[in-house]
Amino acid sequence: MRFYLTYKQFINGEFVDSSNGDSYEVVNPANGKIVDRVARGNVEDAKAAIDYAHDALKREKATKANIPRILQAVTGLIREHETELATIMTLEQGKTLVESRGEIKFFAHTMEYYAGLKARGSQVQISDSTKLAVVEKEPVGVVGAIVPWNNPILLMGAKVAACLAAGSAIVVKPASTTPLSTLKSMELFKEAGIPKGLLNVVTGLGETVGEELVKNPKTRKISFTGETATGKRIMELAASQLKRVTLELGGSNPLIVCADADLDAAVNATLNGRFRNAGQGCMCVKRTFVFESIAPKFITKLRERALAIKVGDGMKSETTMGPVHSRSQRNKVEAQVDSTVSGGATLVLGGKEPDDPDLGSGYFYMPTLVTDVDENSKLLAEECFGPALPIVTVKGLDEAIEKANSSIYGLGASIWTKDLGSAKKAASELEVGTVLVNSLYGAGGWEIEVPMGGYKQSGIGREYGIEGLESYTETKTVIFGS
Ligand code: NDP
Repeated sequence: MRFYLTYKQFINGEFVDSSNGDSYEVVNPANGKIVDRVARGNVEDAKAAIDYAHDALKREKATKANIPRILQAVTGLIREHETELATIMTLEQGKTLVESRGEIKFFAHTMEYYAGLKARGSQVQISDSTKLAVVEKEPVGVVGAIVPWNNPILLMGAKVAACLAAGSAIVVKPASTTPLSTLKSMELFKEAGIPKGLLNVVTGLGETVGEELVKNPKTRKISFTGETATGKRIMELAASQLKRVTLELGGSNPLIVCADADLDAAVNATLNGRFRNAGQGCMCVKRTFVFESIAPKFITKLRERALAIKVGDGMKSETTMGPVHSRSQRNKVEAQVDSTVSGGATLVLGGKEPDDPDLGSGYFYMPTLVTDVDENSKLLAEECFGPALPIVTVKGLDEAIEKANSSIYGLGASIWTKDLGSAKKAASELEVGTVLVNSLYGAGGWEIEVPMGGYKQSGIGREYGIEGLESYTETKTVIFGS
C-alpha cells in the first residue's frame, strides 16, 4: 500500500505531474487525516490529454487495438487487486470496506461485460429496391467523462468501458476529492496494454479541468454524472457547439410500501436503500410512502433495525455505515433535517452527529428517520444525499404514486406489494427511469446489462447496457445505388 505519495495523472499512457507542479491533499472523511497527495491538474493538462486522445483515435483507425482483449485482461487485474483498490477507496471516500469491495466487483464485471459487446449496425430494406441502405455505428470521437465522488470507480468504469468498446477515446476527470482509486486503476489498464492516449485521467477542479473538457472543440461528447445544477451548467456550455451530452443527475427516489407487502423484506430494502454508502447514492431510497394501515408497524421495525447500524470508520470490520463524504455535505444533510423538523416533522431517530468522541474529527451523521413531514419540507422537496429518510403515510396506491411523482426528479422508484396489478400500475405510472418491484436493493438496483438514467431533471440519455455503448457512437446511413 502506498501512503503519503503524490499520485500522478495518467496522460498519454504515462503517469505525470501537473504542468505547473501543483498538488493537493486528499483527506479521509472518517478522521480528517491526509490519505495521500495528488497532482492538481489544470486547463493546460486537460488540453494536452484531449490532444493526445484525439491523436490516439487517428492512430487507432490504422492500428486497431484489440479492445475486447484489453478489457478482459483488465477485468482479471482488477479482481487480483480488489483489496488494494477497495482500501484506497474507503480511505478517500469513507464507505465501508465491504461496500468498496462491492464497488470494485461491479467495476470488474463492467469491464467483462463491455469486453463482449459491440455496437450493432444494420441493413435496412428501403422501398427503392435498386438501392441498398446500411446503418453504421461509428465511434463518436473524444469523450470527456466527469465523475462524482459517491461511487468513484463504478461510475468511471461504466463510462470508460462503454466508450472504449464503442471505439472512442476518453479523458476522465474524477471528483477532486476521490481521484486516488481511479489513478490506481490506471496502473492496471496500463499493464493490460491500453494504447497510449486512448484513456487519460486528468485530476483537478470541475471549474477548470471539467469546464475545459466541455468547452474544448476536440471533445465530441460529455458524459457527466453529478448534481442536477452542475448538469445544467454543462448543458449550457455544451450548447454552443451542440456537443452530445449524457447527463446522469440527482434523484429523490420514492419507495412505496403497500398494505400487503412482505414487511420484513420491505424494511430490509429501505435500510439498504437509504443507509448504504451513508445514503450517498443517486439511486438510494430518499422518500418512503407507506400505506397507513401498516405504517406504525413498519416504522417500529425500521427504527429497531436502523438503531443497530454501527456508524464508524469504514476500515473497521464492525462498521456498517461510514461517514458522510465531506464536512459540507454533512452540514447540508444536517440543515435539511433541522429545517424539516423545525417545520413540524417528528424525529423518530437520529437527527444529530454521533456522541462518540472517537468520531469527532470525521464527518459522521447518525441514521435519521422523520415522520409527519410537510410536503414542502427540504427532505421531501430536495434531494437528500445522506443518511436521512422522510416517511410519509398514504391512504392507498393512487395517493402514493401521485406524491412519488410530485418531484422534479425521476431517476428510480420501488414498490413492495404481493399484488401483480399494483406492481404493474406503479411500474407504468411512476415517472422514473428504473422501477424495482420487491427488490431487496431498495430503489438502488444497478445492473450493468440494462440501461440506467433519469426522467425529468434526473438527466438526459442512458448509460449501461447496449444503450450505454451506443451513446458513444454516431449513426451514419450509407445508401448504395443510383
Ligand atoms: P457535482 O456535480 O458537484 O460534481 C460532479 C463532478 O462534476 C465532479 O467531478 C466535479 O468536480 C465536477 N464539476 C463541478 N462543477 C463543474 C463544472 N462547472 N464543470 C464541469 N465539471 C464540474 O456532484 P457531486 O460530486 O456532489 O455528486 C453527487 C451528485 O451526483 C448527486 O446529486 C447524485 O444524485 C448525483 N449522481 C447521479 C448519478 C446518476 O447516475 N444519475 C449517480 C451518482 C451520483 P469537483 O470534484 O472538482 O467539484
